[in-house]
Amino acid sequence: MLKYNEMSKEQLTEEFNKVKAEHDKFKKMSLKLDISRGKSSKEQTNLSTPILKIIDDENELIASNGVDTANYGGVDGLPEMKEIYAKMLGVDPSLVIIGGNSSLNMMFDTITRDMMFGVLNMYVPWNKLDKVKFLCPAPGYDRHYAICELFGIEMLPIAMTDDGPDMDEIEALTAEDNSIKGIWCVPMYSNPSGITYSDEVVRRLANMKTAAEDFRIFWDNAYCVHHLVDNPKPLLNIMDECVAAQNPDRVYIFSSMSKVTFPGAAIAAMAASERNIKHIKKLLSIQTIGPNKINQLRHAKFLKNIDNLKVHMNKNREIVAPKFSLVLKKLDENLSMLNIANYSRPQGGYFISFNGHEGTAKRIVALCLEAGVILTPAGVTFPYGHDPKDENIRIAPTFPPISELDAAMDLFCICVKYATLELLLK
Ligand code: PLP
Repeated sequence: MLKYNEMSKEQLTEEFNKVKAEHDKFKKMSLKLDISRGKSSKEQTNLSTPILKIIDDENELIASNGVDTANYGGVDGLPEMKEIYAKMLGVDPSLVIIGGNSSLNMMFDTITRDMMFGVLNMYVPWNKLDKVKFLCPAPGYDRHYAICELFGIEMLPIAMTDDGPDMDEIEALTAEDNSIKGIWCVPMYSNPSGITYSDEVVRRLANMKTAAEDFRIFWDNAYCVHHLVDNPKPLLNIMDECVAAQNPDRVYIFSSMSKVTFPGAAIAAMAASERNIKHIKKLLSIQTIGPNKINQLRHAKFLKNIDNLKVHMNKNREIVAPKFSLVLKKLDENLSMLNIANYSRPQGGYFISFNGHEGTAKRIVALCLEAGVILTPAGVTFPYGHDPKDENIRIAPTFPPISELDAAMDLFCICVKYATLELLLK
């Protein structure tokens, strides 16, 4: 088969007419499919339903430190949950704070604290400054950008490479500009590109010169146990590197169990240096007199320990991995020979990042929608919703059943061809 860039105008027109007829066929099928958000499927959440029955007696409400989980107290979380998260993140349990169900909520609160009270209560609160900027590796996670937008933090997009964000660009910017106060990082199975940061990137982030003394890395390690392969590329421990670089306070680590158990009722956590944690706990104890410890205890009893958590995540993998394979198979079979797109082959996480021909992403999403398939809106993977090349689309394979994903991907590939041919014929 000829590649599109090898075809004459007549051949392109002929191909376009064929593809358009296929698209019309799909439109008549009245599909209603959604591959837009990284949500767990029912089959996945069903793996965790024993959590709901794991405490059914008042005598089981006491945590390992003697705390009655039914009552107030325990602002920073139960020891048994800290132990599990400490192992997941490679930090000491004393540096962990257990949160409610949402890590995004913990990130939001962390920025709010630094905006309102200043980092460590030592620096000028960010909302008192004329300008606050964050580095935003892009494509990235739309909800990180939404927090920045809400607080009026200027976002500086940073190019992503296969090893992580472009460190030359980052180092040049942070060394000079003291209004750059932070960077968003999804270091493992990055949302959406799926890559894991290289050791060199982690070391450079820990060691780089920052003009702002109150610069912080927002290390959103949401997918650290979400592997799709047996021997995934490991991620260097950012905390150890920051300590070795004598920048121990530089990083706030966040993590999530939303995609380990229930997206609506899991347990999130954060970790940071002793100084950061002490400051955060002080403010937390004003914010609340006790989080939902019963849910923490249920999770700790269900997950037991890091080894058992890995067994549980392998069961998740058995459900999720065939969906990733299906998406990649469809893309390989339908698009790879045309040389009009590239896409990630993640070793874990929740997304496949797709880059079509420049100038086609919005059109592809619109064409899919016309035929009943909802994709993540084009552009959202970039700050301010603006993908400068209009080429990136985030595919989220986990939620729909395999049969629906199959149909949705057939249509997706047709829409990619449609939008590309349309552009080439212009
Ligand atoms: N961080 C990343 C990178 C995500 O992709 C998501 C959800 O898609 C979250 C955080 C949300 O986590 P939580 O449910 O713990 O708020």
